[in-house]
Amino acid sequence: MSNASLLARSLAAVWHPCTQMQHHEQLPLLPITGGDGPWLIDADGRRYLDAVSSWWVNLFGHNEPRIKAAITAQLERIEHVMLAGFTHEPVVELSERLGALTGLGHAFYGSDGASATEIALKMAAHYWRNRGQPQKNRFVYLQDSYHGETLGALSVTDVPIFRDAYAPLIRANFMVMSPDARQAQEGETAADVAERAALALETTLAAHHEEIAALIVEPLVQGAAGMAMYDAQYLRRARALCERYGVLLIADEIAVGFGRTGTLFACEQAGIKPDLLCLSKGITGGYLPLAVVLSSDEIYTAFYDQDVRRGFLHSHSYTGNPLACAAALATLDIFASDDVLTTNRAKAARWNAGPFAALASHPRIRHWRTQGMIWAGDVSTAPAGFARRLFLAGLQQGVLLRPIGSTLYFMPPYILRDADADRLAQCTLAALNTVLAE
Ligand SMILES: *Cc1c(COP(=O)(O)O)cnc(C)c1O
Repeated sequence: MSNASLLARSLAAVWHPCTQMQHHEQLPLLPITGGDGPWLIDADGRRYLDAVSSWWVNLFGHNEPRIKAAITAQLERIEHVMLAGFTHEPVVELSERLGALTGLGHAFYGSDGASATEIALKMAAHYWRNRGQPQKNRFVYLQDSYHGETLGALSVTDVPIFRDAYAPLIRANFMVMSPDARQAQEGETAADVAERAALALETTLAAHHEEIAALIVEPLVQGAAGMAMYDAQYLRRARALCERYGVLLIADEIAVGFGRTGTLFACEQAGIKPDLLCLSKGITGGYLPLAVVLSSDEIYTAFYDQDVRRGFLHSHSYTGNPLACAAALATLDIFASDDVLTTNRAKAARWNAGPFAALASHPRIRHWRTQGMIWAGDVSTAPAGFARRLFLAGLQQGVLLRPIGSTLYFMPPYILRDADADRLAQCTLAALNTVLAE
């Protein structure tokens, strides 16, 4: 099969995600035929360093032998069984382990991040209904937030390009100031910005808490907005304010969970526990779709009743899929056996002092920032079409970059070695300088 014909067939038959399909008249699709650690390999044998972990899911590289073995072993037992009325070893063990790691002991499963957001929003509103306060059914979300693209998730997402076309379908909620540290004014620290944002949150909660079910946040890093990072103090203040005003706290760790920010879960850095925790993306190491919402005993208990209508009557066909749970268990095993968090901290320190320092000091990059295994910077006076142009220039250099607007970022697989990080920095600088010189 020639490449040209595969690309033509793809464009004819596949509606690609997050894409204006007409752009592919100019921008070629890349046919990927293999993966090897942090590398993607195309049909011509060219290799691309996957600096975005294939949309933030691939934690331990492509073709990871242990995750593959776990899925294959599970495949020999049972590939799938419905989770209503049935159970199986992988889902029980995964729920127990996630409960032990987070202190949130009841695991409800979905298949994608957006389904986790929907579950959390529905659960929060239904919780208040079961508690005799059905009017508490609205949500508070942060400016520049992203929680997925289904309709409920869009109602708490502030990315106009994803939201505007569907505005008539979306229920209005309350948007509050983001604690994004880049908003610091002269003399202000990141913690000061967090405090300002907390005061804004307080104003909204004070005025509207009687109709608010929950606050939803992306802890520490607002990913899709362009890796906006903020001080952990905001999470502590938000936790306390939610308590004071009788509002649930939903932590969406779909992107930041599983070690991305330096701790297993980002909330740990603030020392807080949310009422509902959404996980997906890296949960299976990027092998299979799986999402979970972990909930507190208090929420779970509010649904536990003789009356079927007080139960959480939500389901997805693939809820708790055994193969995906087996991949998630293998992923958790790798965190333990490879001491991933400690290794990552040492790597990040070396790369910050070494190869990535050149990006931090690049004359056209502003607000170079890092949190755990995320790096980002904003390109000043970026030329029109910057994101697409840098993506193309990156491919020429053998690196997969996918800027968000004028924000360039790395969210690499954790198995990146020092030599790969050197290469990543060099290729990115070469691609950036090419685009800026055009
Ligand atoms: C990616 C993402 C989602 C949505 O997950 P999907 O699997 O793409 O539906 C939700 N919240 C955050 C913070 C994300 O990064």
